[in-house]
Amino acid sequence: MSRFLDPRLQTLTPYTPGEQPPRGVFIKLNTNESPFPPAPGVAGAVEAAVPTLHLYSDNTAASLHRTFADQTGLAAEQVAVGNGSDELLAFCFQALCPNGAAFADITYGFYPVFCRLYGVDAHLVPLREDFSLHPADYAELGHTLFIANPNAPTGLALSREQVAMLCANDPTRLVIIDEAYVHFGAESALPLLADFDNLLIVGTFSKSRSLAGGRLGYAFGSRALIADIERVRNSFNPYNVNSLTLAAAEAALADEAYFAGCTTAIIQTRKHTLARLREMGFACTDSVANFIFASHPHMPAQTLQGALREEGIFVRWWDAPRIQNHLRISVGTDWQMDALLAALEHILTKGTSPS
Ligand SMILES: *Cc1c(COP(=O)(O)O)cnc(C)c1O
Repeated sequence: MSRFLDPRLQTLTPYTPGEQPPRGVFIKLNTNESPFPPAPGVAGAVEAAVPTLHLYSDNTAASLHRTFADQTGLAAEQVAVGNGSDELLAFCFQALCPNGAAFADITYGFYPVFCRLYGVDAHLVPLREDFSLHPADYAELGHTLFIANPNAPTGLALSREQVAMLCANDPTRLVIIDEAYVHFGAESALPLLADFDNLLIVGTFSKSRSLAGGRLGYAFGSRALIADIERVRNSFNPYNVNSLTLAAAEAALADEAYFAGCTTAIIQTRKHTLARLREMGFACTDSVANFIFASHPHMPAQTLQGALREEGIFVRWWDAPRIQNHLRISVGTDWQMDALLAALEHILTKGTSPS
């Protein structure tokens, strides 16, 4: 830390992303990326965008906005795009939380970091004992709500009706639904935008669209809310999405069949892996995301994580209250999950047999 750092930032603890090991040798199940490559059309689209890289990217992302609008039935002015959804979430914390922010005690770890960064008061709402989230627990709160749906790292989701309850409960309060994992089996709040102008939906191409390295996020909301986000974006970095990513995103959106194939495969593999883990004694939530949240009664999660790491398999563990004995395991390909299950069998047998 230099002596020049603003004192307000001297105690800020940045978000800790999952480890990015060198490619190839490891089985990486720690950051919920897609195990599948981008849609086949992406490579050509990116290559076609290279000759115009000497020009700035389209700061209005007009073409991508139109594509989103066509696919969702929204107006192009109801769409904003960002350099990953983290950037759009940052804009929300910075600009749309004049009365503070409320979110679950167990949820995406970036929310409290953004609160610290922007000086927003954070109000934590504990999940119930079984990690479920009850809209009633948010009834009296006047803060801007941030709900990851499905939630991370629990994998549990609210129904569209429950999201509607959150919005209807208090029209003066903004409800931000982070749908990073919505395409793996949950209901999108998208149809609710017709009824609620206090709803903002944030999504990403990092998980279900196989473009984590491309960094593309989007926000859907009323024209007024999107204008607010555009106000911040244009005061910060109007060229926030680069030309290669704009091209990649369009190509990814164009291939519905590839998208459906990838998400269906993940859902199938999740189902099969959950069943096998439960047979091995793991307690798992009924995740509708592309990850599994699991704990074992006989071996601490931290021990399991360390032992898996020695076998070249990366999973996520947090030294945090309530979830210390849980692992978050991204759903990879079938062979990756078979390798994980074999390693876990081995570790548990070794760990529990008398030596
Ligand atoms: C992964 C994730 C994001 C961020 O994704 P970007 O890569 O920045 O688009 C946002 N919210 C949740 C809950 C996530 O898990």
